[in-house]
Amino acid sequence: MRRVFNFSAGPAALPQEVLEIAQSEMLDWHDAGMSVMEMSHRGKEFISIAEKAEADLRELMAIPDNYKVLFLQGGASSQFAMVPLNLLRGKKSADYYRTGSWSKKAIAEAKRYCDVNIVADTETDGKFTSAPDEGSVAFNPDAAYVHYTPNETIEGVEFSYVPDTGNVPLVADMSSTILSRQIDVSKFAVIYAGAQKNIGPAGLTIVIVRDDLIGQAKEDTPAMFDWAIHAKTDSMYNTPATYGWYLAGLVFAWLKEKGGLGSMAEINERKAEKLYAAIDASDFYANPVDKNCRSWMNVPFILVNADLDADFLAGAKEAGLVTLKGHRSVGGMRASIYNAMPEEGVDALISFMADFEKSHA
Ligand SMILES: *Cc1c(COP(=O)(O)O)cnc(C)c1O
Repeated sequence: MRRVFNFSAGPAALPQEVLEIAQSEMLDWHDAGMSVMEMSHRGKEFISIAEKAEADLRELMAIPDNYKVLFLQGGASSQFAMVPLNLLRGKKSADYYRTGSWSKKAIAEAKRYCDVNIVADTETDGKFTSAPDEGSVAFNPDAAYVHYTPNETIEGVEFSYVPDTGNVPLVADMSSTILSRQIDVSKFAVIYAGAQKNIGPAGLTIVIVRDDLIGQAKEDTPAMFDWAIHAKTDSMYNTPATYGWYLAGLVFAWLKEKGGLGSMAEINERKAEKLYAAIDASDFYANPVDKNCRSWMNVPFILVNADLDADFLAGAKEAGLVTLKGHRSVGGMRASIYNAMPEEGVDALISFMADFEKSHA
């Protein structure tokens, strides 16, 4: 067996220790005589798995008691619709930040349901390489909510602050930054994230929502799109993504063992800083993102001579460093370095980049 360093943006690498536990429990979970995949979601074994996962996530993120945690399906992309369906509460408009590819998708979906007021648009010459300055944005006091994407996974642009929206509920698509550091959950009305970046396998979506905002969905909202129905049924209105939920729980336990999100933040910052430092120190590689909003999780970079891209990717693969190709919409390279990417993986990438530069400059 040979495990590579996988820099995929998602589905992304999982901690090897977690996969090993899952492997050891695959055929017989804790003397249940069956795999978690084969269990009834209503049986006491699975309920214990589900409750432990939620308790550990609450502890890790210090989620206040007046927030519900939902374990749903449909990806972050379903939340692009569920947010307006549940949060408009009869209002006509919502404020959206437009800072990259994912916020553009959220905006497109919200436009089906309301007037979308773009409060900040960072696109310049067709590119997104910055976040708006803190305090530079004026919100509409009548907006139902403000939506933003704290980390734009494709462009590698990350907000270094949480916007202060006053009394207007703040909604964050945290798919690619959740669990990368400690945040103050009470600043948010809703946080949602697809699991396949920094939580677990694809197929699970986590929604953290303040409870006073639940139960006001638009009348014709499908049951599966109504947060209230999922909240009332402990995310078991229908069959949840049981195995994904279990694996997410193993990841949460792993994070706790690693010292929690404070420790992860230190490691993540160090990993990102050394990779950006290597890119900046070279004329061979470049990163276009403003220094004050470079992502800790997704590090896009280009080879100044794009003719070498294919050779770079082939050589990297040979060295056990895979999925470094940038998103098709931006080109170049992208190294996603979520919690599960060990520091040695980043070191190996930096050393490969230096060697490649030496032999090709
Ligand atoms: C990956 C991603 C999405 C899409 O997630 P799905 O679970 O595939 O729907 C949305 N927003 C952000 C910020 C992402 O990184």
